[in-house]
This record gives sequence, C-alpha cells and structure tokens, in this order.
Amino acid sequence: MGIIVGFPRIGEHRELKKSLESFWSNKISEKDLEQSAKELRSKHWSYQKNFEYVSVNDFSLYDNMLDLAYMLGAIPQRFRKFEGLELYFGMARGIKDSVACEMTKWFNTNYHYVVPELSAKDNYNINITKIQNEYKEAKSLGYRPKINLIGLFTFVSLSKIVDDSSFENVFENVKNAYFKLLDNLKSLDSSILIQFEEPIFARGEDKRFYSKIKDVYNQIAKKGFKTIVTTYFEHSTEATEILSQSDIDGIGLDFLYGDKNLTSLETIAKSGKTLYAGVIDGRNIWIADIDAKLELLQKISSKIPKDKIILSSSCSLLHTPFSKDSETKMNAQALSWLSFAKEKIQELELLESLFKNGINPSNEEKYKQNKAINDDRKKSSKIGDVNVQEKLKKPLKTNREVAFKERIKLQHKELNYPLLPTTTIGSFPQTPELRALRQNFKKEQISIEEYEKGIKHYINECVAFQEEIGLDVLVHGEPERNDMVEYFGEQLKGFVFSENGWVQSYGSRCVKPPIIYADVSRPSPMTIKWATYAQSLTKKIVKGMLTGPVTILNWSFVRDDIPRSEVCKQIALGIADEIDDLQNANIKIIQVDEAAFKEGYPLRKENIKTYEKWALECFKISTSIAKPQTQIHTHMCYSEFNDIIKTIEDLDADVISIETARSGNELLKIFAQVGYSHEVGPGVYDIHSPRIPTQEEIIHQIKLLLEVLPKEQLWINPDCGLKTRKWEEVKPSLKNLVLATKHIRENA
Ligand code: GLN
Ligand code: ZN
Repeated sequence: MGIIVGFPRIGEHRELKKSLESFWSNKISEKDLEQSAKELRSKHWSYQKNFEYVSVNDFSLYDNMLDLAYMLGAIPQRFRKFEGLELYFGMARGIKDSVACEMTKWFNTNYHYVVPELSAKDNYNINITKIQNEYKEAKSLGYRPKINLIGLFTFVSLSKIVDDSSFENVFENVKNAYFKLLDNLKSLDSSILIQFEEPIFARGEDKRFYSKIKDVYNQIAKKGFKTIVTTYFEHSTEATEILSQSDIDGIGLDFLYGDKNLTSLETIAKSGKTLYAGVIDGRNIWIADIDAKLELLQKISSKIPKDKIILSSSCSLLHTPFSKDSETKMNAQALSWLSFAKEKIQELELLESLFKNGINPSNEEKYKQNKAINDDRKKSSKIGDVNVQEKLKKPLKTNREVAFKERIKLQHKELNYPLLPTTTIGSFPQTPELRALRQNFKKEQISIEEYEKGIKHYINECVAFQEEIGLDVLVHGEPERNDMVEYFGEQLKGFVFSENGWVQSYGSRCVKPPIIYADVSRPSPMTIKWATYAQSLTKKIVKGMLTGPVTILNWSFVRDDIPRSEVCKQIALGIADEIDDLQNANIKIIQVDEAAFKEGYPLRKENIKTYEKWALECFKISTSIAKPQTQIHTHMCYSEFNDIIKTIEDLDADVISIETARSGNELLKIFAQVGYSHEVGPGVYDIHSPRIPTQEEIIHQIKLLLEVLPKEQLWINPDCGLKTRKWEEVKPSLKNLVLATKHIRENA
C-alpha cells in the first residue's frame, strides 16, 4: 500500500494554532498542549489507516528543522540557560533577551523553517523523547509507524554556521550526533523504517557534500534500519545515481515537480531498490486526473517491476489545506475540482488499487466519478474567457515609452520631491477596530455606509499624521485590505476562495491562499476609490498601492491546465488596467509590490533564465502602461540581490524599496557595483521588531547608505509595510525617520 511523506499538523480547524497561542499566553498548561497535540496526531493517523505505514515525526509543535536541532542538542549558546518547551519555543520566537533564531523559506514554498545555528565546537546531547513518544503512541493505536526525519545533508546545508568553523568540520560534528540519535532510535523496535527527507538533493550537485552521500547512507543502512531516502520539489537525478549504488532500501522521488526523475528509472531498476513514486501533488489543490496518473505510472512500471513501486505523495501534504469537509460556501462545481490533504489520501488509495489490480467492482465507481469530474473541469465554459485570450494574442507593450534617464527628469519636475525623499511602504497599523470593521461588513452586520465611514476615518487620520510629521510622499494606509493578495484576488475574475483552506506558514501562523481556477481579468477598478479619496485630502503626493502579478501568482494556488507564465500574464493585464485608471485619476506615483518575486525562483540553475524572462515580462506588462511622468515604485521584502540584480534592474521600476535594515549595508554594495541607476529606498529600520529606532540610529544608517549610493538616488523609508506594528511604535519611529533625514539634509 502507498504512503504519504507527511500530513498537515495544524489541524482541521487550526486546533494546534489555538492550543499553541493559548499556551504562549499562559491560558493552558504544557500538559493541555501535549494532550491537544496527541489528539491531532491520532486523528491524522486515522486517515492513513489503510496504508502499510503511518507517518510519525511529521508532526511538530513548531517546525521539523527546529525539532531536529533540539533532538540533536544543537542549541545556540544564548538559549542554554533554558530548558524544555521554554527553550524550544525560545529558539523559535525569542525569549527574554535571547533573540529568536532566523526563519527562512523552505525551498520555494511559503513554509518557513527555523534556521539551526551550528558550530564545529559544540558538544551535542541527544534527546529522542519526541520521536519515542510519537512512535509508541502510533504503535499503541495499532499502526505501523514510519519515522520521518530530515536528512543529515539537508539539515546541515540549511543551517547557519555561526563561527569560523568549516562546513567540513561542522558536518562531521553533526554527523556524529545524528548517528548517535539513530543509534538511540534502535531501542524503539526490532525493525524500523525511516524515511530520510533530503530535498537538498533536488538542488543539484553540491561540492561540499556530494562525495559523502554514499558513505553516510551506507553507514545508516548498516545500522539495521529499513532506509528510504526521499527528495522532492525537483528532480534529483545526480543523487539518485549515487543512492542507487548505496545500501539503502528505497528511493522516493517527486515525478510531478521533477519529471526528469523519469530518466533515473533504469538506474533504480538495476539497483533492485524500491521506488516510492511521488505522483499525488503535495503542493497544489487540484483533484488528481487519475487517467493521467495511470499513464505516468505506466511509464514508470515499464522500467521498474510493479512490486517494487510504492505510490506516494510528491512531498509532505503539509503544503495543502486539511480537507474540503468544512467548505460550505464555495461554488459546488469549483469545489468538486479540488482535493485537499484528506482527499489526497483517498486519491492515493484509489490510484494504488487501479494500478495494482486494474478496474474492478471495488474501485470502478470512484474511478468513474474521478473521470467525470476531470471531464467537467476540462470542458467547463467557466474557465476560458475569450476576451482575455484575444488580448493575450495581440502584441503586448513591455517597455515604457521613455527611457529611465529621460523620464526621471520629467518625474522630478512633475513631482518635485526634495533630496532624500521620505515615504513608507504602504500599510499602517491594522488595529483590532479596523479588523472588526472589515469583518462586520463582510458578515453583513453593518451597512456599506458605516463601513466606508470607518475606512475614511482611518485614512483621514493616516494622512493627517503623515502631513503632521512631514513625510514627503504619503500613502492611504491600506485599511480596506485584509491581505495584499486576497484583496486583489477578490476583485479579479478567475479566483475562488476557501473558507477554511489554511496552510501553515510558520509556527502558529497560517495563510489561506486564493485559488486561481479560470482566466483572470479585472472587471472594474480595484483601488481608485481609496487612492483618490486620500489624494483629495492633501496637496502632497499620495502613492497608489498595488500588488504585482508575480506576487499574486506566487501566493496563490494556481490552475495547472495552462502554464504559470500564462496565468501571470493575465494577472499582469489586469494590473496594467488598474495603473492606467490610477494615473488617469491623477495618482502620480504608483507602487507595484513584488514581495514574492524572489520566492518563485526555481531550485535548479538551469531553469532560472526561463522564470526570470516571464516574471520580468509580466511585471513590465503591468507597468509599461505608465506615462513617462507617472513614477512606478516597487517593493521587495528581502535584501539578497546579488544573484538577481540584473533582473531587478531590468524591471525598470523608477524606485525600488527593499529590506536591508536587518542585513546591513554589505548587501547594498551590489547596487553600486553594477552601476544601478534607478532610485532606491533601502529600509532604514527594521519594522519586524517592536523596537523604536532613535533619531541617531537612523542618522547613522543613512550615513552608511550614503557611503554606498549617491544621495540623488536615495529614498528614506522603513523596510516593509507597517501593518503588523502598533501606532505607539509607528508614530515615534516615523517621526525619528523624518527628523533624521532633515538632519542629514541640513548637515550633509
Ligand atoms: N504595500 C504593502 C504593505 O505595506 C507591502 C507589503 C509587503 O510587500 N509585504 O503592507
Ligand atoms: Zn516588505
């Protein structure tokens, strides 16, 4: 029978989120938290009961990388005075004066892991209690557990080396601890299956460790475990070659996001190893096309004997919502096209039965049902939109009419902003009252008049505050937006929204990505009303705020029947229409946020060019409609531009604001090195922390910036939107930002 690589842990109704947050605010005890976790595990295993194995240790109170660091005893110095959950959550969230470990995206997903901090000098202390408990729990419920464990190579590669230790030495040090952990696990059972997750192998060859793979896995296999090594998110043909020659029992591959894995089949066949074939999509939410899957399996089984193939999800189901059971409002037809984690397990069972036994009375009905739904989706008249397709057939404008050098002059004349212009990234604090206002309106508990009055009131205050402290370019504050993607998705055609389709982003935080199911278009203006209202309140310039096409795409579940690049182009056309309406409504600066531009980068170098080409093109389709005098800004939530600086320059945005505050000026040098000529607003303080930066600190920061970039090119702004902050923090921080800038202008 099949297996899954892992199940979502947050719970059908986000029970884990609720328990965690209650625990953090001291409303429930550690015992209560454990009890709630235990109930979730047992429920999640019950769905896997028809599989030969259920996944153990895929569960986590926060994150699996953190779990492994904790189990190995890889605890950064500053946390060593704590213990137990205080220590564990401390590493994730910070505790007292010990700053949290960094968090970063898990490959190209929107899931974040806690980055372990390693040194070759550390002495590790193994603690396998977590796996031990979960293993015993599963057994006592009558299941056969399979232990999921992040592989040594992935763990070390994704960690941060905190001192001058070499990768080599750190690797050896962690390896010894990792092996000890495995030795301790042996006491659990006479025969144990471990699925080692090594997505790092999907990135391609890595000189730091490729020569070690065979030896490490041979040593692990020798310990007597049944050993599977699984990769996902891309092909891992190079590693498969090596692993095939090792003594492990099975190899898990993702055939959906890494179709090149098909070229490894002969190698695997020759090795006689079992193939765990990832054929059910762990990252997207469309119902499986069982016929297409059977065809894929046909290809696989033409090279590998059927009894050596075990069907699996392409990766952990962590990246999909729990189940469709709690969707009550979505259009029934659209809902029928979807499959969330619980449904994916059923698909896997059906596929397995068809693949192994052919059509028979036990599976025929479900098979027909699946076929009918897929037919319905393929033929549905709701998906295609002739107007959109016609527009896309025509040549699209992808360049501004006037080159930057010339148009920036026109803009300076038109906009007349001072040297070192000050601005913000767009959103202002989202207060509980504001959230309540939007929710009450959504639930139809208040009238549209009351709602709009509330929004206007917020904008009035925002604009008044910005004028009062003397910012140069103002914003309306985004009070009408719950989320920078959902807000646009809700107004574009081609999107649907789930009620409960939550996916864990980090810790207790979940996101509910919009679902793009059809051709996208913009039936009517989305932001004009509030942008023009804000502009009517002031003589200063108010920036219009949009989310860019690439970010809308990367933060949604995207239809899989046409290429992502096509979907992105459709969104881009919608954004272009919006920009045109904004400039015609006399909005002179328009910001197109591309917070997730970088996130969409492919894992393998050879695919980067293609992505960059269409992502860039889409951004430019959106923005090329701007008149020369209309100034286009963009904002990106990161600072590591070294690899992508050329593409960033090619976006041809007049001004880009970026997130440098946390990473220092080193990273900015690249702008100077390539001779980046457009204007840049590197964040001068970190909005992710509640700390209020002093005027002196900001002065210091601006001076550092001036060492790298000429003053004519610089904008002064915080490093991201302010929506997660409180007014008490934002007000003094921005005041200091303006004063610091004035000080520099007067003294420089
Ligand atoms: N304009 C958005 C805001 O300020 C940008 C946020 C982002 O890029 N993450 O909230
Ligand atoms: Zn940002």
